[in-house]
Amino acid sequence: MRIGILAVQGAFREHEMLLDTLQTEHFQIRQPKDLDRPFDGLILPGGESTVMKKLLHDLDLFEPLQKMIIAGLPVFGTCAGLLLLAEEITNNGSPCFHTMSIKAVRNAYGRQLGSFAAEAAFDGLGVIPMVFIRAPYIESVSGHARILASIDGKIVAAREGYQLVTAFHPELTGNGSVHRYFLDMCQKRKS
Ligand code: GLN
Repeated sequence: MRIGILAVQGAFREHEMLLDTLQTEHFQIRQPKDLDRPFDGLILPGGESTVMKKLLHDLDLFEPLQKMIIAGLPVFGTCAGLLLLAEEITNNGSPCFHTMSIKAVRNAYGRQLGSFAAEAAFDGLGVIPMVFIRAPYIESVSGHARILASIDGKIVAAREGYQLVTAFHPELTGNGSVHRYFLDMCQKRKS
């Protein structure tokens, strides 16, 4: 199994290190020719969603990646990556890939609570650590999207088909269970 990680901006290195601990092959996606290699799943890391969106267009990565996601390539968006997949950002920002039936709120916890750590139940994984950095949350899900985790009534993880999103950064917790969950999705899609 091989995972492509969008590496134009943000916290892609942390995902690489986590996949290393899971002994999973990965490579960086920085330009269209990187998409010529076969791969089984895509990670959209945390960072700054507005910058990533601009770079995706400038680097001609937007269209091919959107096509792949629509065609069913498993994708895992963390934090800013969640915002890239959302069909709507209700406060401040326009959608990017627009492939997932979730409405997200950007920088949703305000300045005071900009970054925090928590523990909460994740569907099928039990209680796991979660690190939030200027995080969004999901205001509502629709279509086939379903909620995987919530904190204080706010949705922080969801899945729709082969799309998985977390408002938090599992790659910063040292706990690989959400990545393993994603790799299982990739394996299912592959076989
Ligand atoms: N606040 C960032 C945004 O709006 C997301 C933060 C993150 O990815 N850690 O894109």
